[in-house]
Amino acid sequence: MTLHPPALLLAPSFGTASRLGGEVVPDDIASADPDVFAIIEAERQRQQERIELIASENFASRAVRTAQGSIFTNKYAEGYPGRRYYGGCGPSDAVEQLALRRLQRLFDANWANVQPHSGANANLAVLFALLQPGDTILGLDLACGGHLTHGAKVTLSGRWFQAASYKVRCEDERIDLEDLARVAHETRPRLIIAGGSAYPRRIDFAAIRAIADEVGAYLLADVAHYAGLIVAGLYPNPLPHAHVVTSTTHKTLRGPRGGVILSNDPELGRRIDKAVFPGTQGGPLMHVIAAKAVAFGEAGSSAFEDYAIRVCDNARVLGDVLADGGLRLVTGGTDCHLQLVDLRSFGIDGQFAAELLESAGLTINKNTIPFDTQPPSAPSGIRLGSPAGTSRGFGPAEYRLIGQMILTLLDAARHGRTPDEAIVDAARQQVRDLTAAFPLEP
Ligand SMILES: *Cc1c(COP(=O)(O)O)cnc(C)c1O
Repeated sequence: MTLHPPALLLAPSFGTASRLGGEVVPDDIASADPDVFAIIEAERQRQQERIELIASENFASRAVRTAQGSIFTNKYAEGYPGRRYYGGCGPSDAVEQLALRRLQRLFDANWANVQPHSGANANLAVLFALLQPGDTILGLDLACGGHLTHGAKVTLSGRWFQAASYKVRCEDERIDLEDLARVAHETRPRLIIAGGSAYPRRIDFAAIRAIADEVGAYLLADVAHYAGLIVAGLYPNPLPHAHVVTSTTHKTLRGPRGGVILSNDPELGRRIDKAVFPGTQGGPLMHVIAAKAVAFGEAGSSAFEDYAIRVCDNARVLGDVLADGGLRLVTGGTDCHLQLVDLRSFGIDGQFAAELLESAGLTINKNTIPFDTQPPSAPSGIRLGSPAGTSRGFGPAEYRLIGQMILTLLDAARHGRTPDEAIVDAARQQVRDLTAAFPLEP
């Protein structure tokens, strides 16, 4: 007996195969491609059995992942809703408009673009829209918490533009607005970038806008890390102050991997639309845009607000445990989801710490700290974040335990000592117990 082919294509769950041309292809990856299936299963196991402390990672919901894995991947929709270059874009228009409406409501913005493939692409499109090659940009120094795309020489932002940077203050490691103003007046940037990847404190967007106005620069706020906290009202929304705001959608916002751009100036918006497509990207990833719409729906719920509150509480608890154990927190703590930890009092570097923690099942990243004298390959710090663990249900008790595990491991490795295998084994067992008690897919 054979099923009617259209039924097979529309409802793959009916059978175990789809008909593509003359070929019958198994629907499940396990049969269609056992090699890739095995690797995905290894990744699933890794995510389930390890404690994720990378501040930029999260666990997207099954609804988000279902939309991302949907048949929208088949659609070409170059252009924007209502002005596409291809036919058949009715549903694409509907889902992109829904994503735009939801995103604008979350940030209280009157223009948005949901097509950037990533945070880096969002920033690239803004530079392409507002600047000429050779113009000066001014961003937070990388070692002070800035991002590569804010002017680092290894990126287009540092190669095609004159990149200047501002720093944090030595005393308290907060953004140094006096330094920012001084460098801005000296270098006359066309664009100032506020935001970063390892800055644990609130950013005074209004003050930076005032400096931008003094020198006639645009202000771009890159809130890739803070977006989820902003929509929950826990971190300042830059929209009233910045000319343009960029973000990722997969960090604290807990959506699919991607980027967005927002503004309150529709004229700038028109230029940025052109810079995204056709300026720097081709066809939009409609499946990812569908998943962004789902994530923006989730982020508008009161459950998400509770989640964001727990994220911040958990980051604070984790930091407090480490500080009580003798590790210095950069800036003395956090206003958000991440802690930057200075390891120098233990006589170890971030690379060594990352490897040791990884061997026990704790995933983190090494990080430079402000005015680091160590190279980025073996910096003085580590960055820890709470968004992922909070998504799987960890609360203050679990983060206290995690903080104690980190302390015990790093203490046993002071000054580069090889820790007792029994100590690492005990940590491994604690990680196994904790992750088993909080399954990612119940
Ligand atoms: C993560 C991040 C980006 C880049 O996002 P990708 O999606 O990895 O390209 C840009 N800016 C900041 C501040 C970030 O933290």
